[in-house]
Amino acid sequence: MTDLAPVVPPSPATDAAPCPDHPLLERIETRATEIGGGLMIRRALPNRRRRTVGAWCFLDHAGPLDYPPGAGLRVGPHPHIGLQTFTWMIEGDVVHRDSLGNEQLITPGQVNLMTAGRGISHSEDSAPGPGGRLHAAQLWIALPEAHRHGPPAFRNYPRLPLIERGGFAVRVLAGSALSESSPVEVYSPLMAADLSAVGAARLEMPLIAAFEHAALVLGGTATVEGESLSPGTLLYLGTRRERLAVACERAARVLIVGGAPFGEEVLLWWNFVARRVEEMEEATRAWNSGERFGEVRGSPSPRLLAPDVSGLRLRGSRPR
Ligand code: MN
Repeated sequence: MTDLAPVVPPSPATDAAPCPDHPLLERIETRATEIGGGLMIRRALPNRRRRTVGAWCFLDHAGPLDYPPGAGLRVGPHPHIGLQTFTWMIEGDVVHRDSLGNEQLITPGQVNLMTAGRGISHSEDSAPGPGGRLHAAQLWIALPEAHRHGPPAFRNYPRLPLIERGGFAVRVLAGSALSESSPVEVYSPLMAADLSAVGAARLEMPLIAAFEHAALVLGGTATVEGESLSPGTLLYLGTRRERLAVACERAARVLIVGGAPFGEEVLLWWNFVARRVEEMEEATRAWNSGERFGEVRGSPSPRLLAPDVSGLRLRGSRPR
């Protein structure tokens, strides 16, 4: 997926809050954003209050929705730097193609992890067919300084640990939860877990107290630390929590993400994660002139051009 309209000013911004050294309950509304082909999603990260949760720096929730033939996800070739894209497919089938030559169908229950490093390009299109259904979360993980200029890579993870606990089916997407570890290869301490229930469920999930965490309901209604949540609200939880109380009365799905406070100033613009405006300008110039990012073959969707980067210098130089 892609950031078609980078409306959030790049960090550092005057209104983003520092990571607290204690638990918090902060309700943050997601924003409706188009990601291509007219598909509207809910963007939970970044937001004006919280830029990152650990190294998680971007969180889109797409669907659930039914689409007619020819519609669905249509995100043509576009570049990334400095991040990993992490796609969690709940319903539907999406074809990933990238400039390394990978073509991968991602199906429900799988994670696709693309490490951009110094540069990669890819496309994401709903599988051909008579329409379909789409429900997915796409997250970005900011790569730490030591890894952000590394080689690009792509991997599909068809199987992830699944634990039944308290009426929830807990899928460990990244890092560890309930003593199980995800095989997904990441470069900083972080976690993600998908909790789904088909009826009433209740769970106290142990957390790593040094992490900051957030919860996003992806379906139904659930209560997290006493806060009732539906899709469209991110609950930021702060740090120093030993456990998290999650409950629901009927079918629901909750995504929990967390990680060690990232500690590096991250600049996000369009599909790029970097540190300096000059890096954005260079990546934009290179992509728009067909350099550096290779070529994606086979996507039915048109190549996306980077928007005008000239306003970034002014916005990015805002005082903190
Ligand atoms: Mn992308």
